[in-house]
Amino acid sequence: MEFAIFMVILYFLPTITALVLREDPLGIFLVNFFLGWTIIGWWAALIWAVASYKSLQVRNAPVSSGRFCSHCGTLAPPGAQVCPNCGRAV
Ligand SMILES: [Zn+2]
Repeated sequence: MEFAIFMVILYFLPTITALVLREDPLGIFLVNFFLGWTIIGWWAALIWAVASYKSLQVRNAPVSSGRFCSHCGTLAPPGAQVCPNCGRAV
């Protein structure tokens, strides 16, 4: 009996993983339920469950931060040839 319970838990391991890790476990459950008996379907469901789906949001990425003046430390805008504060070349 314990072996049967273990096998059921093992069979639905992708769904259990999806329930823990993801917000949309329905598709993984369907693949797991209908295709899990094929080894490929089980692995596909498991990989889908653990794969990250949230796109990483990058905020405040430095596109071009300009250059700091070596004399006064002011940040010159990108492409500037002279410091906006002291007028020296950057
Ligand atoms: Zn300066």
